[in-house]
Amino acid sequence: MEVLLVSPFGYCSGVSAALSLAEKAKREAPGREVYLLGCPVHNELAIKSLSALGLRLLDGRKVDLEKAILALPSGSALVFSAHGHPRAWDDLAQRKGLSVYDATCPFVRQNEALGKEKNPLIYIGLPSHEEAEAFLANCPHAYFYDAASGDGDWRQCPGSPSLIAQTTLSEEEVHDAEEEITASFPGAVLLKGRCYATKERQKAIREAAKDSDATIVLGSKSSNNSRKLQEIAASFGPSYLCLDLGEVKALPLEGYRKIALASGASTPREVYFQVRDYLSSLPPSPRMLFKAR
Ligand code: SF4
Repeated sequence: MEVLLVSPFGYCSGVSAALSLAEKAKREAPGREVYLLGCPVHNELAIKSLSALGLRLLDGRKVDLEKAILALPSGSALVFSAHGHPRAWDDLAQRKGLSVYDATCPFVRQNEALGKEKNPLIYIGLPSHEEAEAFLANCPHAYFYDAASGDGDWRQCPGSPSLIAQTTLSEEEVHDAEEEITASFPGAVLLKGRCYATKERQKAIREAAKDSDATIVLGSKSSNNSRKLQEIAASFGPSYLCLDLGEVKALPLEGYRKIALASGASTPREVYFQVRDYLSSLPPSPRMLFKAR
C-alpha cells in the first residue's frame, strides 16, 4: 500500500507544551497530588499516559469544574488546559492555596487578549467547547455565533462588531460565519481566528486528500481539530477518523492503492508511526477504485 504522509503530524506546539507542563508539575513535587482541570488535550491515549504518571483528571463533562477546584486539598497542584479557562478560577485556586500550572496555548491567549480590547465583539465558536466557554467567560461583553448552527445571540450585537473565531475551526466554518454575520453587519471585520497549526494541517490535508484514494486521520472523536481534518478530507473521497492502530486495522481498506495519513494536533507521534508502518506493510491493491467527488 502506498502511504502519503501528511505533514505536520504529531502534537502541535500548544499541546506539546501543555503535556510537558503537566509532567513538570508532577516531577517538581512527586508526593503531591496533581490535578488536570478539563482535558489538557483531547486525546484518550495522551490522557492515559498522564494518568499513568499519577496525574488526576477533572473532566468538565462529568463534574462542575468550579466546584471541583473548591473541593481540592490545599497544597495540591492544578494544571489548566491548553484551551484556556475562566480567569476567575486563578483567584479561586490561589485562595485554596493550590500551585497553579497554566498550560493555556499562546494562540488562545492572543485571541482572548484581543477580545478584551474590542467592543462590540462577536465570537465565532462551538458551544460547549472549553476554548469557546473560556473566551466568553473572560470576555463577557462578546456576543456568540454558533459555528455549527448559526444560532447564538449575535444578532443582538449593537454597532459594527469585530469578529474573533475559535482557533480550531475550519476555513469553511469561519468563512460561512463571516459571510452570514457581514450580511447583517456590513462593517464587521474578522480580526483573529484559526491558529497556525490548524491552518497548516487543514491546507496539507486538502492537498493530500486530492491526491489519494482515501484518507485516514488519526485523532480522537473528542478532538475538534481532528474532526475538522476528517470533514475536509471527506469532500475529496472516503475518509476515516481513527484513534489508534486497532481502529485502523478494522477499516475496509481493500481496493485502495494510495492512502493519505494525517493526524490531529493532539495525537501522539508514536501512534502515527505505528499506523504508517502497518499501512506500508499491506500488499498493493490489485485494483484501483475511483473516488466519488
Ligand atoms: S491547535 Fe492551535 S490553539 Fe490549539 S493548542 Fe495547538 S497551537 Fe494552540
